[in-house]
Amino acid sequence: MNKTETKKYIRLMADSLGLKDWKIEVNFTDCDPNCIAQVGRVYGRKWGQIRIGEKFDKASEKDKKSAIIHELLHLHQAPMYNFVETLGLNPETMRTFDVITEYIVDGLSVGIADNYNLKGGITNGKAKRS
Ligand SMILES: [Zn+2]
Repeated sequence: MNKTETKKYIRLMADSLGLKDWKIEVNFTDCDPNCIAQVGRVYGRKWGQIRIGEKFDKASEKDKKSAIIHELLHLHQAPMYNFVETLGLNPETMRTFDVITEYIVDGLSVGIADNYNLKGGITNGKAKRS
């Protein structure tokens, strides 16, 4: 999958995961070398920034799917993160919160990826690649 195809694929996934009204930037730089992808968000806006890592190209289709779904699901959590960051939690509690949210997002992303067709979107036909 080249960069243009990757961007289209992520847009398709974002649309089918309820993020149609989000601006999703896709960059191929600044990703942690240990990650397939990472995500950032712009505070107070429906604007996500997916960073694709060097490991992406070598990952299996299933791992690519679940990684992108994982990062997109984090965008749905943006209001929660914004709220939690205002609470001034101590670092240990914040780490616990982060671990719990990673378990939730990872479990959901693997489950969704199992029902997601890399070439044509959701396998039930609701989403199709343009
Ligand atoms: Zn995560």
